[in-house]
Amino acid sequence: MTTLTLDQIFEEFADLDRSEQTQYLMELGYDLPPFPEWARTDENRVHGCQSQVWLITGIQGTGEAATFTIQADSDSNIIKGLLAILQAAYNGKTAREILRYDILSVFKTLDLQHHITPQRRNGLRGMVDRIQTLAQQHLLRSTDAAEATTQATQPTAVAKPAPSCAVPMTRPPVVPSAALATSVVSSAEALTGFDVLAIRRQFPVLNRPLPSGRLPVYLDSAASAQKPAVVIDKEREVEEQYFANAHRGTYQFGLRIDEEFEGARSTIAQFLNAPADTSIVFTPGTTIGLNMVAMGWGRKFVQAGDEVLISVMEHHANFVPWQQLAKERGAVLKLIPLTDDGQLDLDRLDDVLTRRTRLVAVSGMSNMLGTVNPIRELTARARDVGACVVVDAAQSVPHLPCDVQADDVDFLVFSGHKIYGPTGIGVLYGKPERLDEMNPVFFGGHMIQQVAVEESTWSAVPAKFEAGTMPIVQAIALGTAIRWVQNIGLSALHAHEYRLVTAAMQRLQQIPGMTIYGPDASRRGGIVTFRLKSIHPEDLAALLDHRDIFTRHGHHCTMPLHSWLGVSATTRISFGAYSTLEDVDTVCQAIEEMVAR
Ligand code: PMP
Repeated sequence: MTTLTLDQIFEEFADLDRSEQTQYLMELGYDLPPFPEWARTDENRVHGCQSQVWLITGIQGTGEAATFTIQADSDSNIIKGLLAILQAAYNGKTAREILRYDILSVFKTLDLQHHITPQRRNGLRGMVDRIQTLAQQHLLRSTDAAEATTQATQPTAVAKPAPSCAVPMTRPPVVPSAALATSVVSSAEALTGFDVLAIRRQFPVLNRPLPSGRLPVYLDSAASAQKPAVVIDKEREVEEQYFANAHRGTYQFGLRIDEEFEGARSTIAQFLNAPADTSIVFTPGTTIGLNMVAMGWGRKFVQAGDEVLISVMEHHANFVPWQQLAKERGAVLKLIPLTDDGQLDLDRLDDVLTRRTRLVAVSGMSNMLGTVNPIRELTARARDVGACVVVDAAQSVPHLPCDVQADDVDFLVFSGHKIYGPTGIGVLYGKPERLDEMNPVFFGGHMIQQVAVEESTWSAVPAKFEAGTMPIVQAIALGTAIRWVQNIGLSALHAHEYRLVTAAMQRLQQIPGMTIYGPDASRRGGIVTFRLKSIHPEDLAALLDHRDIFTRHGHHCTMPLHSWLGVSATTRISFGAYSTLEDVDTVCQAIEEMVAR
């Protein structure tokens, strides 16, 4: 069946109703040729799919004339059916033909457009992306070979302990395949309805020309994301129409504000798949949230001789509170080892995770390396020794789907300003039993049940942790930001950022003297951090700023990680929903020109 041509599939599809289409897709799926067992690896997994999908390509011939054969598999038969259609569309084509091919028209002809659910569309885009990326890589390799360039390249260069250990990237800068990259995005994005330009139009700050007349190229979303108009409008709506303190007045404004404030809490609970709204505590941000856990839970339960486990990649916000807690309690601070490419080395976890480990605190995604950490696996291992798991999700929650129950985390914290929301607001999620046993950290109004001269008692969670007047407007607008993210879909967002990271890494690593830190694109979020031999990060940031390109430089609040890498400062570019391949092109071209000079 999979040897069917597209025309044959079109013919058989004609006149089928929806349920027959599904049936037909599944039949196509059943007949997909077996996928080789050796290729069923994480590297060959297609991300962004709800089902598991593996995809590899075979290449017949050499250079630009070489043709592709796609082999793929999934644990879902409908997805296998879609894969069979992709095979029929792409098999036998050259890389250039693949990149130019209008796959959207195939699905339009098959009338599958509206038949495919949003999740499946994300997955399908992931598959098309993968095929196009492989085709693009092949073209780049062919071009390189044709140019008889002698330097070998690695997809990822990670320097540890010294940057010079990384694969040297001494080739002359190759003119990027910006046009190719654009075509990759346009067809894949059209397929799924992820329209980055439409998204970008929603961000006023990105559409206001700077004094130079140019628009800003904002590549610092990991520090703070920009806000869409809907979030800014919500803040204005609250201020202009019904602002009052929360949980105080029972007049009309008071009731409305309570409804909005608690509504935001519900949105966040649902977004994280928390078991109850009361598991969501509003905080001023990640840093305060982590300190609250260290002070409220750590001081109560971490005893002398206990061990607290973190990693060297942690942001100072998830490093210093535990270091200080360990000192105060006479506990031992230990580090989970990292692999050379900057991932948690779970093969060596047993060396440091022991019966004495009372608490494990790690980030969901590193703000410097971009590494996405395997939280679920880590939690399962921590459970075996009875340790409590705290996740610093400041970087992961804005970029990757999160399910606190499936991940079985005890505490998880994040900040509003990194997820398109306001500053001054953040979230502390806690398992109900953990929040119950945790001591309050701040004392005052609202968090009390009874106050007498000698003694006070506390409200139930979450009020126990929300002393005084909360950042009410910000909390409500955070709810709006999260609904905005949900509308786009985190899987779609992650797939979009994956494309940007892939393009940026491929191009940057061709610049002479370049070291990129962290794992390959499939194991990271929308962050690429690097260092050039010829230009110091601080100088680079200033030079880029002159061109209205905004990047971050320095130690990114990860001094222990920088020491481990043997560098004092690096440059970071980071992406958000509004980032485009044009942004990647602009920053890479600017760096190429500076290095060439
Ligand atoms: N953890 C990580 C991983 C971060 O990236 C940041 C912000 N850079 C923080 C914690 C601290 O967040 P905030 O400044 O919002 O408290």
